[in-house]
Amino acid sequence: MATLVSSVSGAAEAEQAVRKLTHWIGGTAVAGTSGRFGDVYNPASGRVQAHVPLATDAEVDAAVQAAVAAFPSWSAQPPLRRARVLFRFREIFERRLDEVAALLTSEHGKVNSDARGECTRGLEVVEFATGIPQLLKGEYTEQVGPGIDSWSMRQPLGVVAGITPFNFPAMVPMWMFPIAIACGNTFVLKPSERDPSVSLLLAEMLKEAGLPDGVFNVVHGDKSAVDAILQHKQIQAVSFVGSTPIAEYVYREGTKTGKRVQALGGAKNHMIVMPDADLDQAADALVGAAYGSAGERCMAISVAVTVGAQTADALIGKLESRIASLKIGDGADDKPGHAVDLGPLVTKVHLEKVSGYLATGQSEGAELLVDGRETALPAGDGFFLGACLFDHVKPEMKIYREEIFGPVLGIVRANNFETALGLINEHEFGNGTSIFTRDGDTARDFANRVQCGMVGINVPIPVPMAFHSFGGWKRSLFGDHSVYGPEGVRFYTRIKTITSRWPTGIRAGVDTTMPTLG
Ligand code: NAD
Repeated sequence: MATLVSSVSGAAEAEQAVRKLTHWIGGTAVAGTSGRFGDVYNPASGRVQAHVPLATDAEVDAAVQAAVAAFPSWSAQPPLRRARVLFRFREIFERRLDEVAALLTSEHGKVNSDARGECTRGLEVVEFATGIPQLLKGEYTEQVGPGIDSWSMRQPLGVVAGITPFNFPAMVPMWMFPIAIACGNTFVLKPSERDPSVSLLLAEMLKEAGLPDGVFNVVHGDKSAVDAILQHKQIQAVSFVGSTPIAEYVYREGTKTGKRVQALGGAKNHMIVMPDADLDQAADALVGAAYGSAGERCMAISVAVTVGAQTADALIGKLESRIASLKIGDGADDKPGHAVDLGPLVTKVHLEKVSGYLATGQSEGAELLVDGRETALPAGDGFFLGACLFDHVKPEMKIYREEIFGPVLGIVRANNFETALGLINEHEFGNGTSIFTRDGDTARDFANRVQCGMVGINVPIPVPMAFHSFGGWKRSLFGDHSVYGPEGVRFYTRIKTITSRWPTGIRAGVDTTMPTLG
């Protein structure tokens, strides 16, 4: 099989020609025909390393037709056989983990150890999906009426699509397709055009694992490809992960054409730090959760709500000393014994957007205690920004209301727990949240009353494991189902309930009234 993608970094990259990526349709690499391409950067060098084709409607349709053709035989496979393909995929992925992580870092920018962690969290969903024979077991009731039995079963929907963001190019697709295909669906993935190569490696590895052609397809593209997916009559369901305005659009347009849609959006995740918390633990947790992956995580903590002035003052000292020791560099240089903490942001446009919020925050009256633009950053044209820390952030400020999606942490000072909780509950987003406290009563009350989908108690980033489900509340999720775990199985299947009797159970005579068990 032709090698579709290869990872390049540093000086070698400058020597190499820009790679031209392909779609993956019906089990094979297919060149783009639109004549439209997107630039894929290496954010650490600032250079374009690949061109990604942006699909036409006809190319999206070709992928859907491949998936339509593959559906009858794939959905008819015993679930155990489908699971075995995923077992083999997992083994192949583990063997090629270094390659996937290096490629991921070269396009996204996150440090190598973080890229490996992302792959592992994705593989956990694959592991969950290998249990599909158990997960698809239905319910059975003998004798719901005299001589009548009833059972329910879950059947796949048909062709389903996934539209994914730049910030987890391996993990977010793996939140979706392992469960979708394990349930018997066939899949069309439209990954982010900013770091699209990992999706092609996933396709290669699935093929190597024995997945029949057409069960998993990749079409690259921008809004135009997304619209073609939303309007396509043969796509039954769409899973979307990305920013809130696009999530809302995808939900609205997708449901208009009768599709089942789960659309996960943006976030502004708060961590409450109570006066009784261990402040060293809280500071460690905050620095990891705010600045890891340069803040480009939907579960990043971007607001620390300190309860009491003393808590704020003590915490700030601890944060500043930790921020000063963060190492910023090319994510590819992150090796055991030579750790890099923060890589670059994904594109220059995004770097400028995040930097713009620093100026906005200052003009709004927040105090920029640590300005990441003044940190010693790697030389060259990479899209680097150091960790930034604002104090005295107020709820009416733009830097509080909007998702910045960069290495920027804001401190909001609250006088008591009720005020801190109220801030979270009144915010537009409700993805994740966390509290650091030693008080069980406060923690329990917080978990009970907070209006967010994922809650941490002394855990900064409470991403549910693969056998639970991931999803926010409010404008962080449009639709009824969270992703992966049991919710994922429900999303990608529909229930059918059969009521059956045999001639000995059939009463003679016509009866036009509602049958009851009188
Ligand atoms: P994005 O919304 O810009 O893009 C997501 C997808 O939508 C991409 O595939 C993109 O090609 C497509 N898209 C972009 N503009 C479009 C348009 N106008 N019409 C139709 N489709 C369009 O998001 P991003 O910048 O790639 O990712 C970052 C965002 O994703 C952040 O807001 C982050 O919070 C969010 N996110 C949320 C979760 C979650 O689970 N809630 C997880 C990861 C990321």
